[in-house]
Amino acid sequence: MIACEYCDLLHRERELAHGQKAYCSACGGLLYRRVENSLERTLAFAIAALVLFMVANLSTFMLFSLEGRVQENTIFSGVEGLWAGGAQALALLICFTTIVAPLLSLLTMIYTILPLLLGARPPGVAGAMRFIGSIGTWAMLDVFMLAVLVAIVKLGMMARLELQVGAWAFVAMMVAMTAAGSSLDSGAVWARIEELE
Ligand SMILES: [Zn+2]
Repeated sequence: MIACEYCDLLHRERELAHGQKAYCSACGGLLYRRVENSLERTLAFAIAALVLFMVANLSTFMLFSLEGRVQENTIFSGVEGLWAGGAQALALLICFTTIVAPLLSLLTMIYTILPLLLGARPPGVAGAMRFIGSIGTWAMLDVFMLAVLVAIVKLGMMARLELQVGAWAFVAMMVAMTAAGSSLDSGAVWARIEELE
């Protein structure tokens, strides 16, 4: 039996074909689905997102020019700037939601899926799956990107802000992380573990 996560109605779980989804009969919410090659796709998107994460964090995110002075900013230098400017709570929040949470989420996905594809069961797989679910809600890359765009519009009058490689890698990482999250099918993870036992 499986409970709808939106309205708690219980349903009997049935085998689905690849690519099919099961919806709640009362509220229409998604119950479960079978993603084709779920594990392979999740791993591919997670590794791509991790590479993009490194590019996004190590390269210049944007150029800020004011009265002939040009300043290069990375995501981390932005966090440092907030901290130095007295906004420590905001600095910690941004550091957590745009750097720590996405990184932990990606590393846990790779930690879980890579061994399963290679034929081994990683220790603590149930905890890892729960962790991916809870840390995922803290990875708020879209909120950060929105704040950057608001800053560009607001400061655009007096300063020039130009997005650089880091920003484009960040946007691509958002897409890859979303794809990894939507490819990850916990049913496929458990089915794989049963095969291995
Ligand atoms: Zn429902």
